[in-house]
Amino acid sequence: MTKQYIFQPAEPVAIPVKGTTQLFPIHRIFCVGRNYMAHAKEMGTTVDKTQQEPFYFLKHPSSYVPNGSEMPYPTRTDNLHYEMEFVVAIGKSGANISQQDAVNHIFGYGCGLDMTRRDLQAKAKDNRHPWDIAKDFENSAILSEIIAIAQSGEITEGIIELEVNGEVRQSSDLNNMIWNVNEIIEHLSTLYTLQPGDIIMTGTPEGVGAVQPDDQIIGFVKGVGELLVKIIK
Ligand code: MN
Repeated sequence: MTKQYIFQPAEPVAIPVKGTTQLFPIHRIFCVGRNYMAHAKEMGTTVDKTQQEPFYFLKHPSSYVPNGSEMPYPTRTDNLHYEMEFVVAIGKSGANISQQDAVNHIFGYGCGLDMTRRDLQAKAKDNRHPWDIAKDFENSAILSEIIAIAQSGEITEGIIELEVNGEVRQSSDLNNMIWNVNEIIEHLSTLYTLQPGDIIMTGTPEGVGAVQPDDQIIGFVKGVGELLVKIIK
């Protein structure tokens, strides 16, 4: 008997796989906080890797926006920030994954924007409230196509860059990450059983800033590709 839902459930959210007609269905979107020292410093903090563990927040898959879209300026903020990030797409389930085995759980890579209501995040920090309304809102996860690791090979370094209206605002290298991809997968998989379809946004380098309606953002990660979005009213 077919299930009688009281309304039609949402279609699975899925990301195109570069050079194919296939789609990567999103299960969860994990985001790493403060994973580049220069960004931690610009946010007024620091990271001591010997004393601290990485931390995470999540975005709902429905916050996904495909590459090339227009992003409506969100409600309840006057300080919408871009955060350009390297993205890892998990293709194989696992818990307590070792650093050595981590690469075997990667389906591919992408790049993405962790769009942030920075004013609401600052208020949440002041009040010791969770970050959800600052980070996990509609259209807040703009993600490029995914390139299969079979095509790209393992990626551990390379330029990560972001331009607004043709002006470079963020420029760093993936090898500046405080916790590299293998370390993140090892750590995150002690907290969650990673599943195919899980996305990890690995944190942003320094140079975050505000955008306004009509601004055009172009992001780039070497070996992965480009990401383009226009902010609209
Ligand atoms: Mn971020």
